Amino acid sequence: MIFDLEKYIRPDLLGMKPYSSARDEFEGQASIYLDANENPFNNGVNRYPDPMQKKLKERIGQLRGVNSNQVFLGNGSDECIDLLFRLLCRPNLDRAATISPSYGMYAVSAKINQVDLSEILLNEDFSMDVDRILKESLGCKLLFLCSPNNPTGHTFPKKQLLRIVEEFKGVVLIDEAYIDFSEESSMINELVKYKNLAVSQTFSKAYGMAGIRLGLLFGSQDLIAWVNKIKPPYNVNQLTQDFAYDKLGETERVKTEIESIKTEREWIVKELMKLQQIQRVYQSDSNFILVKVINANKMYNYLINNDIVVRNRSNQPLCLNTLRLTIGTPIENKKLIEKMSEFVL
Ligand SMILES: *Cc1c(COP(=O)(O)O)cnc(C)c1O
Repeated sequence: MIFDLEKYIRPDLLGMKPYSSARDEFEGQASIYLDANENPFNNGVNRYPDPMQKKLKERIGQLRGVNSNQVFLGNGSDECIDLLFRLLCRPNLDRAATISPSYGMYAVSAKINQVDLSEILLNEDFSMDVDRILKESLGCKLLFLCSPNNPTGHTFPKKQLLRIVEEFKGVVLIDEAYIDFSEESSMINELVKYKNLAVSQTFSKAYGMAGIRLGLLFGSQDLIAWVNKIKPPYNVNQLTQDFAYDKLGETERVKTEIESIKTEREWIVKELMKLQQIQRVYQSDSNFILVKVINANKMYNYLINNDIVVRNRSNQPLCLNTLRLTIGTPIENKKLIEKMSEFVL
């Protein structure tokens, strides 16, 4: 597929000279570093981190089956979302699109970047009308599709995602924050075929490292090179780089935790279906479940009074009287079901 990325980059950025840090200008080894105005006394973090996170990217590239120059690392995937807006969309001129309901950061990031975001409604059952999405996103430079979707929980059929990537004239970001809980394979495998495709993942969910703030963006070499040009120089700190690198070896732990969360998810679904308060349990491929209840505000407050916080999604489009329940530990889940079953309207 032919895709002329430079046609989509903000024209005012095309000739831009990126910031060049001390660590960019000298990459070799020396015993005396007097180039970056650092404090010379070693405490483990007195030096600036590798601005390009080469060691970590190398390892992530191997694990994901892509070249390390197709990997961008951000301060959470939220930074990746923001950088895509900045790279592609001129404030008050260019448009972007996403589906609705979906992850709230697309709209917040669009707003901050003064980009008009079309939020294209899903069907009542939260499935996608691909024709409508293609039609309403016409002329947009950037399209966000979250799959498995948040807050609805399900994965969109790969055939639909691929058709959109094929037909949309611009960059499509598939947000795979929850892909590890899904039976569907990652769209990373499609990067070789589609130069307008980007895929984001995160360490915040399945990997259990929300606290270190590490988001991943995969794309063509060209796209990733452009994101690198506009990123803040040291956007992923040393502690995060080291911690993530050490934890990347713990594949068994992650696998076991994902399995436990999926088993618990199926148990919670079964239990929720028995409850009178629950009107509908939406199918989930994620580590949360969206449920429709009779009165979401009352149920939400009741749970808070019982020391349990869930997410009230009632103000989201198509989501009236819904709560989003994150899967917890087996003990926490039991408590949730117990409390919910005691609730009387
Ligand atoms: C949680 C979540 C993320 C993760 O964001 P981070 O900044 O990496 O923590 C991204 N996308 C979606 C849809 C999410 O729900």
